Amino acid sequence: MCSIIGYLGNTAASHLLVKGLKRMEYRGYDSVGIAISNNDKIEVRKGVGKVAEVEATQSLQALDGHVGIGHTRWATHGEVTSKNAHPHKSSTGQVAIVHNGIIDNYVELRQKLQSVGYTFMSETDSEAISNMLQLVYDRTKDVKVSMMETVAALKGEYSFVAIFEDGTLAAARFHEPLVIGLGKTGYFVSSDVLGFAEHTDEVIYPDNGEIIVIGSNGLQFFDFSGNPMRHHITKVSKEFADAYKGDYAHFTLKEINDQPESMVKAGENHLNEMDKIVGLLRTSKTAYLTGSGTSYHAALVAKHIFLKYGKLRIEPIISSESRFYPDYFDEQSVVIALSQSGESADVMETVRIARSRGSKVASIVNIMTSSLVQESLHSVGLNCGPEIGVAATKSFTSQLSILYKMCARLSTDFNLPDFAEISGHMVETIASQRQIQEIARELKNASDIYVLGRGIHYPIALEAALKIKELAYIHAEGLPGGELKHGPLALVDSNVYVIVLNPSDSTHLDTLSSAHEIKARKAKVIGISDKQSDIYDHWIRIPHVAEPLSPFLEIVPIQLLAYFAAIEKDADPDYPRNLAKSVTVK
Ligand code: GLU
Repeated sequence: MCSIIGYLGNTAASHLLVKGLKRMEYRGYDSVGIAISNNDKIEVRKGVGKVAEVEATQSLQALDGHVGIGHTRWATHGEVTSKNAHPHKSSTGQVAIVHNGIIDNYVELRQKLQSVGYTFMSETDSEAISNMLQLVYDRTKDVKVSMMETVAALKGEYSFVAIFEDGTLAAARFHEPLVIGLGKTGYFVSSDVLGFAEHTDEVIYPDNGEIIVIGSNGLQFFDFSGNPMRHHITKVSKEFADAYKGDYAHFTLKEINDQPESMVKAGENHLNEMDKIVGLLRTSKTAYLTGSGTSYHAALVAKHIFLKYGKLRIEPIISSESRFYPDYFDEQSVVIALSQSGESADVMETVRIARSRGSKVASIVNIMTSSLVQESLHSVGLNCGPEIGVAATKSFTSQLSILYKMCARLSTDFNLPDFAEISGHMVETIASQRQIQEIARELKNASDIYVLGRGIHYPIALEAALKIKELAYIHAEGLPGGELKHGPLALVDSNVYVIVLNPSDSTHLDTLSSAHEIKARKAKVIGISDKQSDIYDHWIRIPHVAEPLSPFLEIVPIQLLAYFAAIEKDADPDYPRNLAKSVTVK
């Protein structure tokens, strides 16, 4: 969830670490810190806030030395305070670590370490790692052995990077991402290639359950039992190094604007894999789509499309719920996992459960070097470039695009949509952003927002409400229009806004009736439709398209509305409070 980075080489480390942390900040951003090992001493600087804020107060880059580690945190254990910020030194100070993930047995480890004299400064689970390393190091003075004995003692899912006072850098990976960059000036260890992408495109992906030691013997890999491991060097695509927002004020706005192009390109270079997944869908007895948040909403849209046009039942499963329903999966099932990062802990857990029960697993994912791709029989790439904004935008429309392309390959009754035409319509919709900004100005004071959609528009209502919550911090709920009168109408009054997703299709008249019921209770109605109505206080026009294609168009004005409401409220749309991208903890 957080970002971790380490560097060992022949240039100043602090500068490289701070730059890398800035580019990975989307992974977690409540506090920041770095530690540098120099002249047999480790010095730590850290604080609460984003990288630029902590840099301003702590002068992180003033630390001198060629070996170091850095961290941006997304707190799981212990409040957001300077003390809990990483790196964490061991109590005697010869080791420091940065950690991503959760150590499940930290209470037990802490007690054991305290009983033999090691002290703790923070409330985090992570500090157990530095003191555990120190305990073994005190006895052996051997980095590799310290790492091996420490990982043997840890329970949970983690990756961590450690520096030792002798200037050795070491890392371990267990169900959390970690990648090694082979730079011209030295080695990088990072959660994400973005941490060092401008310095090298040559990387090594260690396997799960490996230890990395970088010191006087160069770069070495071991399994947790200490056996040496060998790896290929992989060249990462230039595209993923290219995470710049250009002339846009925020990544989120850029990514919304990327959609007319990214949605067309989605999956295009993996057509063979797409066919193989379609083959699995044809031959399996039961089919599931799994994802979290926005990805789950894409699964709900796909359920509708596959059933109506492909005559195939696919059950969507919320990934974090799957462990309570393992009986879904057996040898005759196929599970298609949806994840932008391919590292989401909940999705990975579902995949492991499904595989352990003999199901076939395939995936639709943006980062093709991710753990999810490694665990899948076949994977199709979103191909939408880096998505840095924490709220998913272009990954959603790219997921839809791939799922529609699959449905068209599965069923002769479903013609491949004309994506070039949808793309043109998206551009038109984005062009109405000035009007949307005006509405956002008014909407920012709403107490609650309900989003109504029937049929295929209902999953979009859920996705719309999620965007509004994430970006604008306004309570929002997506509802099937007909459910209003079964309860939620009791909450509707003049402080409430209701957005109706109401294109002129089979759902139009029913949704219009819901809009009348709302209007009679004095709430404000925003209509998203190709057709004007007097009932709307604001009408956001979208072009007319065939019913199954409206999800691509109706989500765009909502993304913009949520983005502009965030701007109006002085919230940072790229880094919503309490959230992080790539949720690698459970
Ligand atoms: N569990 C650790 C903490 O709360 C690491 C969290 C993270 O991955 O950022 O500090």
